[in-house]
Amino acid sequence: MAEPDTVLVGREPPAGLDVPMTLRKAEPWLVIGLAVHGLAVDLVDSTSTMEYLVVSVSLLGVLGVAGLLGWRSRVAVVVRCGTAIVLGYVLMLAGGPSGGYILLWYFVLAAVYPLVLPSVEGWVLVAVIPVAYLALLPFGAADGPVAIALVRAGSLVFVASFVHTGAAAFRRAVAQRDGAFDLLDTYSHGSPVGMALWDRDLRVRRMNQALASLLGLQTGDQLGRRPHEIPGMPPVVADHLRSVLATGTPERDVEILGGGRTFVTSWYPVRSGREVVAVGSVVVDVSAEREATRALTQAATHDPLTRLPNRALLSERLADALGKADRSGQSVAVLLCDVDRFKVVNDSLGHDAGDELLRATASRLSAVVGPDDTVARLGGDEFAIVAAGLGPAAARSLGERICAESRRPLRVGADWVTSTMSVGVTVAADGETDPVGVLRDADAAMYRAKESGRDQVAMFDVGLRPATNERLEFRASLRRAVEADQIRVVYQPVYRLDRLRSGSARAGRGRRGGSNGATASAAEASEIVGFEALARWTGPEGEVSPAVFIPTAEDAGFIAALGEQVLRHACSALVGWRRATGRPLTVAVNLSARQLADPRSVARIGAILADVGVPASAVHLEITESILMADVEGSIRRLRELRALGVSLAVDDFGTGYSSLAYLRDLPVDMLKIDRSFVSRLPEDSAVIGFVVDLARAIGAKTVVEGVETAEQLRGVARAGCDIAQGYYLSRPLGAAEISSLLATGGRARS
Ligand code: C2E
Ligand code: CA
Ligand code: CA
Repeated sequence: MAEPDTVLVGREPPAGLDVPMTLRKAEPWLVIGLAVHGLAVDLVDSTSTMEYLVVSVSLLGVLGVAGLLGWRSRVAVVVRCGTAIVLGYVLMLAGGPSGGYILLWYFVLAAVYPLVLPSVEGWVLVAVIPVAYLALLPFGAADGPVAIALVRAGSLVFVASFVHTGAAAFRRAVAQRDGAFDLLDTYSHGSPVGMALWDRDLRVRRMNQALASLLGLQTGDQLGRRPHEIPGMPPVVADHLRSVLATGTPERDVEILGGGRTFVTSWYPVRSGREVVAVGSVVVDVSAEREATRALTQAATHDPLTRLPNRALLSERLADALGKADRSGQSVAVLLCDVDRFKVVNDSLGHDAGDELLRATASRLSAVVGPDDTVARLGGDEFAIVAAGLGPAAARSLGERICAESRRPLRVGADWVTSTMSVGVTVAADGETDPVGVLRDADAAMYRAKESGRDQVAMFDVGLRPATNERLEFRASLRRAVEADQIRVVYQPVYRLDRLRSGSARAGRGRRGGSNGATASAAEASEIVGFEALARWTGPEGEVSPAVFIPTAEDAGFIAALGEQVLRHACSALVGWRRATGRPLTVAVNLSARQLADPRSVARIGAILADVGVPASAVHLEITESILMADVEGSIRRLRELRALGVSLAVDDFGTGYSSLAYLRDLPVDMLKIDRSFVSRLPEDSAVIGFVVDLARAIGAKTVVEGVETAEQLRGVARAGCDIAQGYYLSRPLGAAEISSLLATGGRARS
């Protein structure tokens, strides 16, 4: 038989003597009964030996009382029975006419004790009583002739065996019943489904382990309890039990919440014939399934990374908001927020950092908006906000708050990252109900913000609508051009300034007009030392500025291909010019942020140089200051790798970013390229330019000035100590053929 609290909660403890408790309780009375009988015998037969009877009666009385008080163990029963046998024997031995009466004790013991004793002791008893009786024969105390005594002994055996056999049959029946119950219990114990059986009194008759553990019950004392007496049993259970008992119809799949879990329970009537005698219940814990369903819904409507609503949910909410707005006349603003140059962070700092940045952006946005507004992640680095009740002015200022917030540097892993945002704002027009259209308008505005230089808010106006389609077409045709290698390269000559500085060149002849203004000014600047390669593209609508198509290529992900094409063209051209002139001309090629961020770029650039056969020392790579500073440590790493190829490195647009002097010292660069805004502010900015020249010398770099447009500027930058200059005054960017003829005519000072 299994342990009570592992198989069944509330199982009765097994009877120690394997005998029903009622019999065990009655047994001491039997001994007392014998004692009383002894007294009666004494009254009938006054000649009997008083002292034996007194002793026997008192002893049996004491034993009987001890039994009544609870001394009911197996030993106690054996002792009582044994004492009664011995006392009877002694009394019969003492003789006298009362011996016949005392013999009754043996019959009583034979008729009762096999029931009260366990099986083995019972068999012993069947033998002991007749043997004890026969043992009186030698003393002539068996109350009659031998033949009669033998018949009596036989009937004692018969009575005791009969009772014992009856008891054994009863025990077997009980064992069979218990075995059947055990099997049922084992079955229900093994079931993963919680099960219980309730009687008509609503008391639980059976409760399996699964149900007990669902209720958090450990011990086995629930049997016989009503629902409200069982800890953790939800009160509604009683109602359902009553209803099934009353109607006789099952109640199925009722969901019950309890202790933070969800249970599905069914109750069914248990019948005997037509009568409902009990109610069975099965309970399944579906918490995990419900949680999974909830997670699925969450996954379908939320972005797993930021836990913000996704595009689907946003569209739904936007549609709701538009519907409400239509009825109430309230306005709905949609802000589309795109992280500027997110791909750069993602590529340079790694995807984990990118993810962190997106999460941080998500929480910043959530902090800025109102409690009823929806912030959603549309995908990638694009977020959207739906704010009901916001007019154009309020929506714009919300956008501005977002931009301001995003300018604060963020800690991403070990780095500080500043990632600005471009925000497009639209306020849905009256009667507008199509969320897709509203989102498209916000998107168009966001593109306007990007085009106007990022890190700003742009408001939608209808004039932008055609632009959205155009933008897609534009992107596609640029991609086709890159794929077909149709990006052209022009070369702007760069000149050495040292001769001019030493005063050998004459000042300010001015630029001659016409196409060949270059050569005229070149005279003043002395000698061409190299070129900057600049990409050119003529789109379907005509010439497009690289300031437009370079960011497009960056966003669309094919800037690396474009940049590598420019590099290859520039290197091939340079090889030709170096051969033709025999001079160590150089070419500067611009590197985009994404190329810098991509670890594969280094190998690809190296391969192009090797392929074309240009010495790496003749190639300069220009990287914009703000890009370098966005991730200084990453930049330093990548610049070292590039430098290991043998190329020179220049910081482009120097002075427009926020270079930290400490970082600048560590950046492995060969040139600082002073931004043309400083040149245009000459002579006021000459001290600044002088400072950059000193700074460059301090870190072992040269200075290049760009955007020299006048003779005065040229003299100014020369005086300030710059090493190299380029600008329209010296030469516009020229096609490769023009450069060839320029070089053929000397390309150097004719002074
Ligand atoms: P940048 O690298 O600062 O290039 C210098 C820009 O200044 C060029 O504009 C050049 O034509 C212009 N410039 C030269 N001299 C003068 C002058 O005296 N006055 C004025 N106002 N401008 C002058 P461009 O070619 O339109 O290029 C614009 C930007 O596009 C470049 O700025 C560079 O950042 C980017 N870019 C151009 N080609 C490539 C390329 O192949 N790859 C990458 N990644 N970026 C490129
Ligand atoms: Ca440049
Ligand atoms: Ca520049």
